[in-house]
This record gives sequence, C-alpha cells and structure tokens, in this order.
Amino acid sequence: MYEKTALQLKDLFVSGEISAVEIVNYFFKRINKLDRKLGAFLQLYPERTLSKAKELDEKRKKGVKLGALAGIPIALKDNIHIKGELTTCASKILSNYQALFDATSTKLLEEEDALILGKTNLDEFAMGGATEYSAFLKTHNPWKLSCTPGGSSGGSAACVSARLAPFSLGSDTGGSVRQPASYCGIVGYKPTYGRISRYGLVAFGSSLDQIGTFSYNTKDMALIASVLGQHCIHDATSLNVPKINILEHLKKNLEGVRVGIPYDFLTDLSDEMKQSFDESVQVIKDLGGEIVEVNLSVLKYAMATYYIIATAEASTNLARFDGVRYGNRDLHAKNLDELYDLTRENGFGTEVKRRIVLGTYVLSSGYSGSYYKKALGARGKILDAFNDTLKSCDLVIMPTAPTPAFETGSIQDPLSMYLMDLYTVHANLTGLPALSIPAGFAKNGNPIGLQMIAKHTQDHFLIGCAHAFEQARPENIQVPPFAKEAV
Ligand code: GLN
Repeated sequence: MYEKTALQLKDLFVSGEISAVEIVNYFFKRINKLDRKLGAFLQLYPERTLSKAKELDEKRKKGVKLGALAGIPIALKDNIHIKGELTTCASKILSNYQALFDATSTKLLEEEDALILGKTNLDEFAMGGATEYSAFLKTHNPWKLSCTPGGSSGGSAACVSARLAPFSLGSDTGGSVRQPASYCGIVGYKPTYGRISRYGLVAFGSSLDQIGTFSYNTKDMALIASVLGQHCIHDATSLNVPKINILEHLKKNLEGVRVGIPYDFLTDLSDEMKQSFDESVQVIKDLGGEIVEVNLSVLKYAMATYYIIATAEASTNLARFDGVRYGNRDLHAKNLDELYDLTRENGFGTEVKRRIVLGTYVLSSGYSGSYYKKALGARGKILDAFNDTLKSCDLVIMPTAPTPAFETGSIQDPLSMYLMDLYTVHANLTGLPALSIPAGFAKNGNPIGLQMIAKHTQDHFLIGCAHAFEQARPENIQVPPFAKEAV
C-alpha cells in the first residue's frame, strides 16, 4: 500500500476495496516501525484518526458524497493548528501549548475527508534549513540516515519520502518546503503568497510565510493544491481569486512555453549540480520548451534582503511568547520583567534567539534606515526584476538548492546554513509561486531537485509544467531503500 499515490489510495477507498480504518492502521504500523530511525513525527493521533476513519467508513457505506481527499492520510508540520491538539513549533516554550482553533488548512483537509495522522518535526519556529534546531529531536533523511532531510519542514519531507503518508503540509518562509523536497526526492510546492490561508499557521515572517505541500508526484500536488487554494476570510492577505481544479491543467509537453534561465545567477554551481541542471534543461527542450536566457543578477541581494526582513518580522511575531498569554511560563520569576526574561531565556533555542536579536537590531531606531528600510527597497527591486523577466518568459528555472542533502551536523556556522537558501528566498520576497521537482540523483545517491517559478497566481500553470517534466523523467521518482523495508 505504501507505493500508492494519494489519488490511488483514494480510488481504492472510494471503490470499497479497502476501508479507511485499514488505511490508517497500515500507516500507523509503518510509522511505528520506521519512524524510530527517522524521527519525522512529534505527535501521532491514533485514537482521533481511527475514530475519523470509522466515521468515514460509515459515510461511504451509507452512500454519502465523499470529499476530494477521502481516505488519504496526511501529516501536518507542527506549526499548523489542530484544535485541541498540541502545536509545539518544536520549541520548549510551546511544549504544552494546545491549539484553540483549527487552521483553515486543517479545516479544509478534514472537510474533504483527509485523515490527519499526526504532526511532524521542524526547526524551532521554522527557523533553519536542516531540522537540526528542533528542541526535541533530529530528523533523518530516508535516502541516507546520516544526512539531513533539509529544513525547516524536514519532518514533513522525510515522512512523505519514506512513504509514511502520501501527503504532508509544511511552511515555506524562505524555502522550507522546496529545499527539503529536493533533499528527500519528492515534490514540494510553495503557492503564490495569499493563495493558501495562513490562518492557524504560527507566524514567522508574516509577509513571507506560506503553507506548502509535499507529495510523491505532481498529480497529487495538483489535487491537494486545488483543495487548499481558497480564499479565507480569516487571513487579511488571502487572495480573493476563484478556486481552480489544477488537475485539469496538467500538461503533456512544454510546447509554446518560454523557460527563462538566469545563468548570471548560477555561476557558483558545483560540477555535479551543473551537470544535473543541464540535463534538466535538455529535458525541457525535448518537451518543446523554448529556452530564454534572462538577467536576474539582482538576486545576489536576495539573501541579505531576506535575512533582514525575515528576522525583523520574526522578532516582532515572537514578542508574543512572553510567558503571559502563550505556552510555558518560568515559575522562578520574582517580578514581571524577570518573568519575561526567564521564560524567553529558557524557552527559546540558540537559533531563535539569534534571529530575535538580529531582527531587533535591524529595526532599532537609528539603524532601521540602513537595514530594514533598505531591505524593503531591495525587495521592491527584486520584484521588479522578476516581473520584467516574466514578460519575456513564462517560467523561470534554477536548482532548488546549491547542494544535495549534507551530513547532519556538518554545517555549524549559521551563515553557511543560511546560504542553503540561496536559490529559494527570492520566491518568498516576491510572493511568486514556486516548486521543487525531483531531477535525478547525485553520485552519493542523494536526490537533486529542480525549481520552477511562475507568474503571480499562475500556480496551476506552474504545476501543469512540472507535470510534463515529471512525465518525461519517471525514473526521477523513486522509493528510498529505507522505505522498502517490509512492515
Ligand atoms: N532556512 C530559511 C530560514 O532559516 C527558511 C526557513 C523557512 O522557510 N521556514 O529562515
């Protein structure tokens, strides 16, 4: 059953060949066996999920209309709320925090009869690129357990890659869905900013954050993106655009599609990454795509711009965790100031504190002109450059990450870790839709991803093109040997 895509599992369920209870029991059994070595999950809901599965089986027996995701198991990154369940953000400060409401995505998934198995591990508050900064555990890459699954949505990526669920949700503020998808050999999608509601996603950088999806292939991606891409009245930045059935937009080839490549921004690629990228370019040409060389040299400013804006917004958003209203409180404090200080000192990990300090500094009076306001200006220039570029082409492609997955613990210097976001942060700064799709394997066997970026709100076109690429290279989608272990 683990090799079945989400759509195949749904068909088996809808046709009555298999019950929802059998599906969830099977996936829990797999998780119990394999996740000990993987560390993808922080919480599992066997009782809650089983009772939902029983209800769903009843619904099917009675002939009630079934939802678009009927019978499909899914895992959520642990920064997305499920009412009554923990949302820890992999932080000590929220280790006991119970969500008071459902995220819009949670609600939409359950309305469409998906079965939520549990919550997955992440870098604390989604800040990081290797899922090494979780306060609770490290997650491993199913392709090579000594390597990182990427981050910050590493638990969600590892879970899907190891076939512990055909779907999972992550969040992408600077690449945290696309980069782990590329490290784990699966597809990962970051929508146009505002396409999927942020209501019930714990905020990191509010102007950058988007919930994104992981799946084995683009057809499943089209299914879940269609369900989640809806206007939401609880999110002031939600786009009020019509719902689209993306499954109707999947392409067979790329004829007539102009594909831009910013070679001026890709000068530092290693030989291996360059070779892989060149092969992907050839696939696109063979599919009828027209290659256009574009100039995006302004992207050299994207990293600095991102790390100023993201930390500024994070320092503001994380001010609410003060021991008064949310999460844990330090009980040794003798007065209110000490309550704030001790709660935050003991509750946040090193990387989160680094971001808060950096963000507070760039916003401090006297410096905001040199840093924050300058970064906002640079953000505008990057957006202008992309909008201009996307007049001469329909898609932009580049590698998803500078390298394949690296050994866990091998990057100690925070700046080197930040550089792993080199090719992803611009899509968050611009709000453009972007995805990562498997593009082959490195010599050491770890997967490599190709990134595609499209025009604002053209998510259906983006996924449609990625589908054509995937169809031309089915061998890029493989089950890691680790996941083939019998259960
Ligand atoms: N790695 C990036 C960071 O640490 C991106 C994080 C994210 O997308 N949540 O900020």
